[in-house]
Amino acid sequence: MKQPRENPVAPTSRWMAAARARETEREDRLFSDPLAASLAGDEGFGWLEQMESPYGGATGPGMYAVVRTRYFDDFLLEACERSGAEQVVLLAAGLDTRAFRLEWPSGVKLFELDLPEVLGHKEAIIKEARATPNCERHLVSADLQRDDWPDALEGCGYDPEKPSVWLIEGLLFYLTRRSVRELLDKVGTLSGPGERLGLDLMNWNMMFSPVAWTQMNALARRGAKGRFGTNVPEEFLADHGWKATAVQFGDADANYGRLPTAPAPRPIPGVPRSFFVTAARL
Ligand code: SAM
Repeated sequence: MKQPRENPVAPTSRWMAAARARETEREDRLFSDPLAASLAGDEGFGWLEQMESPYGGATGPGMYAVVRTRYFDDFLLEACERSGAEQVVLLAAGLDTRAFRLEWPSGVKLFELDLPEVLGHKEAIIKEARATPNCERHLVSADLQRDDWPDALEGCGYDPEKPSVWLIEGLLFYLTRRSVRELLDKVGTLSGPGERLGLDLMNWNMMFSPVAWTQMNALARRGAKGRFGTNVPEEFLADHGWKATAVQFGDADANYGRLPTAPAPRPIPGVPRSFFVTAARL
């Protein structure tokens, strides 16, 4: 029987794991992810090398993944602590190991949602490592571009009546504008006032910038083309019922001493930018 084709964005999860594995080797690491090297495998390290070759590693996409990981580690823990939310939903969780790495408040249920091929690979590695999570962990195999993922989430024990913290990390860039809007609408339907959401976004200039061209082209050749960006993340999120704050990758709050220069101020036009967004449901 013919096997269904893998979603071309699925292997990007291994690239992210490779970046976290490399960070784990550093003495001044921003986090430790001991499972990351096995999760990444040769394929993940191959992606990392190819994507970074034009940047020499210093501020390239691997460092983006590392700073983003730490930024949203802090966001998730702070949001749970402040709001008392006991449900955390990671949409497009990929090979994320926060269930194992972070010290969650007691009672937290963490839902990892991704494609079956990604979660299958992840579970095989985690089982072999005999790792134990620091929270109640639930895996939800689902396609976020379909309408039925909220049912799959509820089928795994998620309670829409209880407050949650949401994260959409490393996904929206690959989706069409329409898919992004549909996804945010579904998250909005499941969220109550005050619930928190974290996500990352590129701006439009990133798609067409000569600085990012080599990476964009390499992704497109692998079938994982960049499709969505916005220059006004706060307005885009407001359209979907969220009050958002955006910082740029490299800003004082999203740097951790890893980037030599601050990003260009927002009013300067035509600059490629990447944003870490945190939001509260209106
Ligand atoms: N959030 C993880 C991280 O930061 O390491 C993974 C990010 S990775 C760049 C993108 C993830 O999006 C992959 O794990 C991929 O499988 C997932 N993804 C892409 N399209 C998806 C879809 N339609 N439904 C569910 N997951 C999807």
